Amino acid sequence: MNQALAPYACDPAQSRGRRHAIAPAPTRTDYQRDRDRIVHSSAFRRLVYKTQVFLNHEGDLFRTRMTHSLEVAQLGRSVARALRLNEDLVEAIALAHDLGHTPFGHAGQDALHRCMADAGGFEHNLQSLRVVDLLEQRYPEYDGLNLTFEAREGILKHCSPANAQALEASEPAFADGQGGVGQRFLAHTRPSLEAQLCNLADEIAYNAHDVDDGVRSGLITLEQVRGLAIFEQACASAICDFPALSQADQQRRLLYEALRRMLSAQVYDLIASSQEAIAQARPDSVYAVRQSPALLLFSPDMQKNARELKQFLFRHLYRHPQVVEKMQQAQQVVTDLFQAYRAAPQEMPAATPQGAPATQARLPGSPADARAVSDYIAGMTDRFAAREHQRLTGQRLLA
Ligand code: MG
Repeated sequence: MNQALAPYACDPAQSRGRRHAIAPAPTRTDYQRDRDRIVHSSAFRRLVYKTQVFLNHEGDLFRTRMTHSLEVAQLGRSVARALRLNEDLVEAIALAHDLGHTPFGHAGQDALHRCMADAGGFEHNLQSLRVVDLLEQRYPEYDGLNLTFEAREGILKHCSPANAQALEASEPAFADGQGGVGQRFLAHTRPSLEAQLCNLADEIAYNAHDVDDGVRSGLITLEQVRGLAIFEQACASAICDFPALSQADQQRRLLYEALRRMLSAQVYDLIASSQEAIAQARPDSVYAVRQSPALLLFSPDMQKNARELKQFLFRHLYRHPQVVEKMQQAQQVVTDLFQAYRAAPQEMPAATPQGAPATQARLPGSPADARAVSDYIAGMTDRFAAREHQRLTGQRLLA
């Protein structure tokens, strides 16, 4: 047991529990078990072949959902330790936070959402929860990974009121009489600090690694990124300590050193600002945390810097014509797949890796039927989706 856990941290001994009660493990806490269950899931393994920003097959050196999730876990753990939060829970949430992503990143999600317009839509966050609650089928007694409330709370980052209401209807009755994971979106309360932390660690991770991948891909230049205050400060301090980094043949090293400093600056800022907010609010339990305003936060200056960086990436990388062209193809693949499986459900394996679609009683043409197709497509890796697309349409896109 972690002796140094703060009173406002999630303590596995005080967990609100799992959907299905299980016997305690002899050597591991409940959050360690959550983490282990996630690492052993099929959805986690598939993250290796899912796009973060650059399509999976475009190069072996770019981030995938898997390496992104590992970076979020690393950053999250390091902040958690400094704030005496529960590292195991942070790691579990970080490793699971993107399990519901479709192939081809946000383009895939947008296309699937449009396909599902009449059947409840598609949202990757909700899908991550669906994966751990339902779609992983590996335990004899129940569907899903049966994670703790605290891990599930962290995974469900956003949720519309309508979806939250629907979720609450199927949540178990908790011993403390409080609602389930959808409740906070109806009551406008906060999640645990571990969950708040994963959200920010996600942002720190992708802002930094997208600059890295963007520059190395040649789609954005180091000079362009140096126009941003947050990156230029890091570059200037790196060159001040190591003047040789300004030489033309040292630009790769300069990029890495500046990114390292930029990451550290954000992490230290997050720790200091959060310590201050926690000291002021003095929450004495995770229940108090949930009733407090957000306590994990950047300083106003860092918030501004991070926003600038995000806007820059949006404009110059995510909307780069070369990225957009691939994304249009990706949307085509997902849309074609959806239509093909709706028209011919027998093209989907009877027992899919997602399992649930095959076991759900559903009528052809019903929303449940559409959801089964959506689950199947969302679970695909980039390369499997491209291969299936070619098999079903004869067209070769992104393969
Ligand atoms: Mg993420």
